[in-house]
Amino acid sequence: MAETRLENITKVFTEDDGGEIIAVDDVSIDIEDGEFLVLVGPSGCGKSTTLRMIAGLESITDGVIRLGDRVINDIPPKNRDIAMVFQSYALYPHMTVHENMAFGLQESTDLPGDEIDDRVEDTASMMGIGELLDRKPGELSGGQQQRVALGRAIVRDPEVFLMDEPLSNLDAKLRAQMRTELQRLQEDLETTTVYVTHDQTEAMTMGDRVAILDGGELQQVGTPLECYHQPANLFVADFVGEPSMNFFDMTLDGQGETAALTGEHFDYPVGEMATELAEGGTEMILGVRPEDIELREGTPDGPHDVGVTVDVVEPTGDENIVYLAFDDEELGSVDSETFVATVGGMRTVQSGDRLVAHLPEDAIHVFDSNSGQALR
Ligand code: ATP
Repeated sequence: MAETRLENITKVFTEDDGGEIIAVDDVSIDIEDGEFLVLVGPSGCGKSTTLRMIAGLESITDGVIRLGDRVINDIPPKNRDIAMVFQSYALYPHMTVHENMAFGLQESTDLPGDEIDDRVEDTASMMGIGELLDRKPGELSGGQQQRVALGRAIVRDPEVFLMDEPLSNLDAKLRAQMRTELQRLQEDLETTTVYVTHDQTEAMTMGDRVAILDGGELQQVGTPLECYHQPANLFVADFVGEPSMNFFDMTLDGQGETAALTGEHFDYPVGEMATELAEGGTEMILGVRPEDIELREGTPDGPHDVGVTVDVVEPTGDENIVYLAFDDEELGSVDSETFVATVGGMRTVQSGDRLVAHLPEDAIHVFDSNSGQALR
């Protein structure tokens, strides 16, 4: 059992015309033994390339990957003690389920045939596919193929599992079910797992930690709650959470008790926090999550209250997504700016309601407008 360490890894692809694409840019992550780490980010951010470098399917332009004490940069994929599950499942169509599952073991170990058969049968029964061992992939449903692909990785009992969007071809219900099942399986097996997804909900619900990438660069690595409560920068703040965080352009004015972030529609007194914020200059972005905004009836009477009118209410079942316009805005005008709050589904909020939005001081985030880095 061992840590997997990515040390300053970079991948540069050279295009036919000589142009260069920096797909992964100086990324360092220590993946703990037994950890479930999710690599997440928008399309093209470099997550698959990172995973493929760990697998050995892509060369590493710069940096070092270690598995325990071994530097694995130049070790061929089959000798890395790593098993990968692909989005496409990549099962061999002409082989039975049994043969598909046994193949990797036959290639990478000297285990006798009957032991391989035993391991395949045990794993198949654990995965609930014991009845399917004689079928070929073409005779299986998508969900069954997915289990075979997982089973094929598990049977090898590798040091590390690498999974590239393994659930994305399943329908929503099966995907949710498999998420839970995969997590449980990983906890039982205690095998280090690096899991790639572009879906922030999947990342936040499955990962012990998440590593968030954008443009090939690592933006933050932390537990889902750390990334949610203490986003390192604007990108993470915007990427994590659904609906997304609201952002307002502000300027830091004044000092001491009278210091405030002043914006187009409202001012937000910051008091003593100003000293901390001033390190970022004067231009800032105030962020507040929809679920942190408290809506109430009445008129604004506190420093962190803003008068609003409800524009549109979108019920989603367990909650309402409420689009709000500032009181100084004309509702429905083309350039009216709305922001979003969520309230419990039982609460009746209607379009046209005039309310107070309270933005609690302990829930706000402030970012430097220039660098995007969190100031608080
Ligand atoms: P997706 O979620 O869409 O799969 P990703 O985050 O996994 O995206 P990568 O597949 O790692 O992103 O790609 C990162 C960048 O590297 C992209 O700009 C992509 O176009 C580029 N890239 C990937 N593979 C190659 C290649 N073989 N040759 C040239 N460029 C590549």
